Amino acid sequence: MTDPHVAMFPGSFDPPTLGHINIIQRSLKLYDRLHVVVADNINKRCLFTAQERVNVLKDIFCGSSNIIVTSYDGLMVNYARENGIGVMIRGVRAVGDFGYEFELAMTNKQMMDELEVLFMPTDPNYFMLRSSQIKEMAAFGADVSALVPKQVVDLLSTKDLRF
Ligand code: ADP
Repeated sequence: MTDPHVAMFPGSFDPPTLGHINIIQRSLKLYDRLHVVVADNINKRCLFTAQERVNVLKDIFCGSSNIIVTSYDGLMVNYARENGIGVMIRGVRAVGDFGYEFELAMTNKQMMDELEVLFMPTDPNYFMLRSSQIKEMAAFGADVSALVPKQVVDLLSTKDLRF
């Protein structure tokens, strides 16, 4: 049995951007509670540890008891099963995102038939915004404060971003 009032929003969040935050806030207009699940995937090289990404998201949403921030090191369908979640939300920016997201949704549906994947189009303000761009801009000393929450600006300043 899945809880119809709860959804999940999985991702790398390396780091979280205002695009992610926007999807989270809009998802809460549809569902009472949202699990924001940081993928702790050893095969994907991330700048921030899963713990850092969880901590910064918890900090950003510290006043919101309806947002559960956690990390998971397995298949997201297993997280959904273990937590009685029947809806996975994914944000899509452009057609380029759609192909990848569509294939992922097909794979997830094959693994868990009772899971529904919902695509939420980005807000036009965040159409061009992706985590990799933030890391690149920050590495060159550009100001990213209009694109990420303040907590992420602070977190970025703790890392040596030169490569
Ligand atoms: P992943 O590595 O799983 O793609 P991301 O952290 O990049 O994880 O993204 C998590 C989800 O957030 C994905 O569905 C992605 O399409 C979505 N997303 C990322 N940036 C934006 C944005 N600017 N607007 C809307 N959705 C976004």
